[in-house]
Amino acid sequence: MKNLRNFYINGRWVAPLKVNDLCVENPATEQPLATISMGSAADVNLAVAAAKSAFATYSQFSVDQRIVLLEQLLQAYLDRYHEMAVAISMEMGSPITFAIEEQADRGSGHIAATLDALKQYQFEQQIGSTLIVKEPIGVCGLITPWNWPINQIACKVVPALAAGCSMLLKPSEIAPISAYLFSEIIDQVGFPDGVYNMLNGDGAGVGAAISSHPDIQMLSFTGSTRAGILVAKSAADSIKRVTQELGGKSPNIIFEDADLEPAVRGAVRNIMSNSGQSCNAPSRLLVHASVYDRAVQIAAHSAEQIMVDDPAKEGNHIGPLSSRMQFEKVQSLIQKGIDEGAELVVGGVGKPDGFETGYFCKPTIFAKVHNQMQIAREEIFGPVLAIIPFDTEQQAIEIANDTDYGLAAYLSTSDMDRAQRVAGKLRAGTVRINGAAQSYEVPFGGYKQSGNGREWGEFGLEDYLEIKAISGLSSNS
Ligand code: NAD
Repeated sequence: MKNLRNFYINGRWVAPLKVNDLCVENPATEQPLATISMGSAADVNLAVAAAKSAFATYSQFSVDQRIVLLEQLLQAYLDRYHEMAVAISMEMGSPITFAIEEQADRGSGHIAATLDALKQYQFEQQIGSTLIVKEPIGVCGLITPWNWPINQIACKVVPALAAGCSMLLKPSEIAPISAYLFSEIIDQVGFPDGVYNMLNGDGAGVGAAISSHPDIQMLSFTGSTRAGILVAKSAADSIKRVTQELGGKSPNIIFEDADLEPAVRGAVRNIMSNSGQSCNAPSRLLVHASVYDRAVQIAAHSAEQIMVDDPAKEGNHIGPLSSRMQFEKVQSLIQKGIDEGAELVVGGVGKPDGFETGYFCKPTIFAKVHNQMQIAREEIFGPVLAIIPFDTEQQAIEIANDTDYGLAAYLSTSDMDRAQRVAGKLRAGTVRINGAAQSYEVPFGGYKQSGNGREWGEFGLEDYLEIKAISGLSSNS
């Protein structure tokens, strides 16, 4: 079992001020994987003091100096890429092939995209006789979840470094091994001591100490809407900037003129991927009534073909849910769907045959769902799809938008005028038409209770900048 008890503070690995161990479990085997320390407010104070002191120097680094450091970071990350994929697979149950091709790729993808953004970004602009400058905001607190662990870490740490900020990262206590490895990678690169600090802990202890800290000027949070609200309230007294990337209940609309079979197959693949544990997972499938029954048949057939297996094995199966708590939550919501009268087409409660150990869950499809049912409203965060019928384009838009969330939306149609019209009316931060992919340069973030920030590329960089207007520099001002 790995000993990951130390924190990374001021360029060194240090013991926590108080011993408080937490055992990290492999969700596929339920066996202990590593021991981490749960930090305290006193550890947070040390890390913030280090970051505050480092900010004075690092904020003065030129763009070219920061580019050199980020290029070194990219190389150091690529050197340990496979180790990163293995760490993610073991800590949160991502199948190793998915961890190599998708999860670990997010780390290098975001470093490369942020580097491109940094090389092109205009930090200064002139408005009349006034010079507008964009400056690093200060010490940043970064709090991340377990579901795409290195994605979320890279989405925050890399733009903060690019902007010239110093920071304290608190990764998820459920998936801390990738964060520990990322900290080792940072340590290999020549950032000044104290620019990057990392410590572990839970939300109530370390998370709250970060969000309320008076010497932290910016707080970037990714996680549940529940915790996002607490973070914003606790940050309010210190007037720090708070950006939130929160939950979702994203709609996927299939119109009657769509190429039905690939659209439905894609919809099922998309929700089952990462065992449904993606904030932008299309968990509500809205299908036109004229093709509804056929779509349910295709979805059932597709879900039956999704294999569940050991994440350590190569292949395109799905793995377990990330923790016992997550498994129990998903099970209770599947039961809720049955109790609410939705039609269980595939899957259901209980573990798949042969997987008594580990938090494995059956790929599950519900039909005859209406949008007021709890399974259509609550973020399940498991491999569970709710299929909802609609009659008109207007009704599809209304159902799609009838949610507290607004992270992502998906639609399939062969009519591009309709695609554009509907995309314009969907209250969501991203809209993907006919399965189109989105690159690391485009903004990612939500409307409504899905959050208020935009990460990725240039848009992510801007969260870490303050704006200053300097007048009087020229003689005619
Ligand atoms: P969570 O809210 O339980 O925890 C997220 C992080 O916040 C963890 O590090 C946790 O320790 C910390 N935390 C919890 N309570 C806190 C508090 N009161 N103060 C400060 N920190 C606190 O979420 P999770 O279960 O780890 O992650 C799943 C959630 O994250 C889902 O809702 C998912 O949709 C969301 N998510 C959103 C995005 C996005 O970009 N919008 C991306 C990934 C995940």
